[in-house]
Amino acid sequence: MKHSMTPKQFFQTVLFGEIWEAMKVTWRHMFHKPMTFQYPREKRIIPDAHRGALCLLRYEDGKERCVGCDLCEAACPSRCIKVISEEDKSLPLERYASEFYIDITKCVFCGYCVEACPVNALAMTKMYEFSTHDKRTLLFDKKRLYDVGERHLSDAKKYLYAHNLEKEGDESRAYRYHFPESIKTVQSSTE
Ligand code: SF4
Ligand code: SF4
Repeated sequence: MKHSMTPKQFFQTVLFGEIWEAMKVTWRHMFHKPMTFQYPREKRIIPDAHRGALCLLRYEDGKERCVGCDLCEAACPSRCIKVISEEDKSLPLERYASEFYIDITKCVFCGYCVEACPVNALAMTKMYEFSTHDKRTLLFDKKRLYDVGERHLSDAKKYLYAHNLEKEGDESRAYRYHFPESIKTVQSSTE
């Protein structure tokens, strides 16, 4: 069967057309701003709502915010939080978390525990550099969680603001969960 080349096919073959076509992509990218970061020398700007390592927070006077209520433990879908609470002997009826553990190897960084906390004792930070050869060091205890909170306090506060958890007044109340009106009516009629 006779096969003849069109002039276009002839020039494509003689001038290696496919190679020049492919080189166009290379040249186009030579004039683009690089997309890669030279980590760890260069670091990305992390948004305030980023879900990084968890931490525990204190009030301005240094008092621990956590009241050991266990709501974060109940909300955690990975079952990686363990809270042991005790009564504060100096303040009857007040409780605190005597022990607090988060197994970061199981954490999926969903942020449910932060949402569940009624006193904003938990927050997430922009800290993501905690890789290790020994995964036992990724069982964060209470001391380590407070340490992370102290070192990343401003990012933790920004996280709470970004997720509408640490706002004052009406703005905060509008975000928080409210029981439906029918339940409120039943409660007030039984009081
Ligand atoms: S971020 Fe999610 S998975 Fe991690 S401890 Fe909190 S609730 Fe559990
Ligand atoms: S961190 Fe918050 S939700 Fe968890 S035990 Fe403490 S007060 Fe309760």
